Amino acid sequence: MTCRELVDFLGAYVDEELSSDVRRQFDGHLAACPECAAYLDAYRNTVGLAKDALHDPDEPVPASVPEDLVRAILAARRKR
Ligand SMILES: [Zn+2]
Repeated sequence: MTCRELVDFLGAYVDEELSSDVRRQFDGHLAACPECAAYLDAYRNTVGLAKDALHDPDEPVPASVPEDLVRAILAARRKR
């Protein structure tokens, strides 16, 4: 798995929607790539904060999600 693929699977991974096959590749990449491990940490924190801030889980992500992280995620997707 490449860093680019890992970013694509990040949301599904955090929601535990990956098949066990893909998940194994994902974990393998994380173990070998500190950059992506740090990235996952930041992503998890953001998702956790966003969920804590919601009263209704169907509401869109609130504006309190850090702009910087959103931009970093978008930039990483474009770059790789
Ligand atoms: Zn990586």
